[in-house]
Amino acid sequence: MKPFTVRLKLHGDLEFFLRSGARSQSIERSLGEKTSVKDVIESFGVPHPEVDLILVNGRPVDFDYALANDADVELYPVVTDRPKFKYKSLQVASYNRFVVDGHLGKLARDLRLLGFDVAYDPTAEDRQLLGVMERQNRALLTRDRRLLMHAVVKTGYFPRSQNADEQTVEVIRRFDLLGSIIPFTRCLLCNAPLRKVSKAEVIERLEPLTKIYYEQFRRCTGCGQIYWPGSHFSKLQKRLEQIRANFAD
Ligand SMILES: [Zn+2]
Repeated sequence: MKPFTVRLKLHGDLEFFLRSGARSQSIERSLGEKTSVKDVIESFGVPHPEVDLILVNGRPVDFDYALANDADVELYPVVTDRPKFKYKSLQVASYNRFVVDGHLGKLARDLRLLGFDVAYDPTAEDRQLLGVMERQNRALLTRDRRLLMHAVVKTGYFPRSQNADEQTVEVIRRFDLLGSIIPFTRCLLCNAPLRKVSKAEVIERLEPLTKIYYEQFRRCTGCGQIYWPGSHFSKLQKRLEQIRANFAD
């Protein structure tokens, strides 16, 4: 087979995945055999769950499209301005169930605070994360590029920032979650839903001052942790406001 050249152009923030020297220019690669566009994309370092639209010579294609001749390949991420024609998204736009990799504990906690269903086990190995993702239909959040490139990953995201607050905002944006936030409904420790309980039900487990000052309580239906406005919620309320401030017009 005659060698051919593939030129790649990245839109939106997908340049993030290139080595810094290669940014802001189209990149070329010479290929000697028929190769799926997905394999070419990932050979440049871009994980497939980050790509929502692939154009080959201006026409939309799927991940399994085989490149065999000279081609211009353009990639668009999920959140960006796209070319103005109809196309089938390669990614799911909205998702509210996640599995979070062990290095992103603060992000996991933030998402639970906002009411989202987040599986998080800091000791889980890669194959366990992928197993939970598949069995429980969760989107994978990880800053491990190799893991995100795994063939079984359908929906996932690589937080660009290393800061948990910024990561949370990114995830809300990527998965269109702003309208689905229901804060203080999920246990930060174990992810189970919280249930409102009367003071009488929990009074034996309260500290003396808490008994005096607070009337509203929620208890985790999983681990039994008790939450009330004073101790946990005021700090969290501030965090919540900071997160929401990013979306104010
Ligand atoms: Zn719990």
